Amino acid sequence: MIRIIGGGLAGSEAAWQAASQGVAVTLHEMRPVRPTAVHKTDRLAELVCSNSFRGDKLDNAVGLLKEEMRRLGSLVMRAAEESRVPAGAALAVDRERFADAITTTLAGHPLISIVREEVTTLPASSERAPVVVATGPLTSDALSAEIAALVGTGHLYFYDAISPIVLADTIDRSRVFRASRWNRSLGCDGARGIQPRDSGSPDDTGSPERPALRLRRIAEPPARACGVDGGEGDYLNCPFTREEYDRFHDALVAAESATVHDFDKERFFEGCLPIEVMAHRGRDTLRFGPMKPVGLVDPRTGREPYAAVQLRQDNLAGDHFSLVGFQTQIKWGDQARVLRLIPGLEQAEFVRFGMVHRNTYVNGPTVLDETWQVRRRPTTFFAGQMSGVEGYVESAASGLLAGLNAAAMVKGEPLSCPPRTTAIGALAYYVSHANPAHYEPSNVTFGIIEALPKPPRGKMEKKLAIAERALRALEDWRARRHDGTAESVPEVSRA
Ligand SMILES: Cc1cc2nc3c(=O)[nH]c(=O)nc-3n(C[C@H](O)[C@H](O)[C@H](O)COP(=O)(O)OP(=O)(O)OC[C@H]3O[C@@H](n4cnc5c(N)ncnc54)[C@H](O)[C@@H]3O)c2cc1C
Repeated sequence: MIRIIGGGLAGSEAAWQAASQGVAVTLHEMRPVRPTAVHKTDRLAELVCSNSFRGDKLDNAVGLLKEEMRRLGSLVMRAAEESRVPAGAALAVDRERFADAITTTLAGHPLISIVREEVTTLPASSERAPVVVATGPLTSDALSAEIAALVGTGHLYFYDAISPIVLADTIDRSRVFRASRWNRSLGCDGARGIQPRDSGSPDDTGSPERPALRLRRIAEPPARACGVDGGEGDYLNCPFTREEYDRFHDALVAAESATVHDFDKERFFEGCLPIEVMAHRGRDTLRFGPMKPVGLVDPRTGREPYAAVQLRQDNLAGDHFSLVGFQTQIKWGDQARVLRLIPGLEQAEFVRFGMVHRNTYVNGPTVLDETWQVRRRPTTFFAGQMSGVEGYVESAASGLLAGLNAAAMVKGEPLSCPPRTTAIGALAYYVSHANPAHYEPSNVTFGIIEALPKPPRGKMEKKLAIAERALRALEDWRARRHDGTAESVPEVSRA
């Protein structure tokens, strides 16, 4: 029997994978008995902020990771497909439908028992009864102290911030326009192909690895009319003139920030900076980040605006829109005043404001093996954000491997990990082998996947070649795992 602590993205995926291997699982989730600062429901795998799983194409690393997870039978990917909403080239979901699908599936599985309680001490583990700890960035205090005692000084933390959501019918439609960047839209059918990623920034273009070339190479489908207002494209865009942008920027840098406890130790993940932090870095920083206008043409002027804020549909009903890449820690009163300077949001009603939160994670390279086993206690596994990855998909991916390996341990089979030529294997390798002195949780990127010996010339060609090799390597690993010839990774990585 496997005990899994935490029924978030990682714990839910781990439970599914282990049970799919025929091993009984007890999944401990503390909500609703004990809430966290950001979860709102008692559902498993609740998405606490964006409803986006980022890009869904093979020419970006998170798209590749998703494809690998699909091939490994991921429940998170299956539920995401079932609850998909339009979001350009990204995979975004109706968060309630998504969490419901996971909760119902796990609750109905004959090998899974769900216990609603806070686990306050790290349970004893053994090869017959391993433990997977997947308690996320908001691990409760008592368990955090236990984890700190187990891993020693590698137990770190920093702050993150979440984006606001507005009520759709309070958006001034005469000022905003509907479009996907570069006119690219998946429409409502969610068809997939070889296309790029997102990372929670506008049109989900936050990835540093996303070149203009990639965008141009995509066969441009006609924009589809399928949104709530019948326009074209998947995003509502709030266009700024230069004067409007300057006024907004000035208000942002003058706005009052919520007090951050222990501010000296504040550390933000670079891919998820609060807008006011970006604004303080320079007047144009936002125009090259979440407010970039490239690929957008305002139909009223026929020109690219000076800057733009993108609003993405946040639920299937289409009555909530989130401000893409607009995480913030500004005090709520000030937040409403500043955000209403965005053209089209002058009368906006906010369903949720942005906020600051704690993020707890271990120093992966000092604590974990590639199999997600804790080196000091190999019958205990860590998975998800607290294991030192960043992002919904990455958290679920780590849970997938931890669940498979915990099940292998119970069955007396070798523990293994896909090779570093795959996205999922590269993530495991990064978490267990990066430089511990400067360790930061990472999204998956092509930069952490093993380089091609003879890469093709173009950036896009190179990414697609890496993706093709990855999927071949994954199939090979699956086959070897199936017939019991996959090498046992713990010995390899500790050697
Ligand atoms: C506020 C916030 C916003 C974020 N926004 C995004 C985003 O927009 N996009 C993105 O890709 N990533 C985001 N992340 C990062 C990360 O991807 C998510 O936190 C993701 O949910 C991590 O998955 P997880 O399974 O590790 O943790 P979680 O999904 O948080 O699951 C952990 C579970 O463990 C439970 N738990 C905690 N302690 C105990 C205990 N002692 N006993 C029993 N149960 C316990 C919790 O209730 C929770 O259900 C965000 C993180 C935070 C905190």
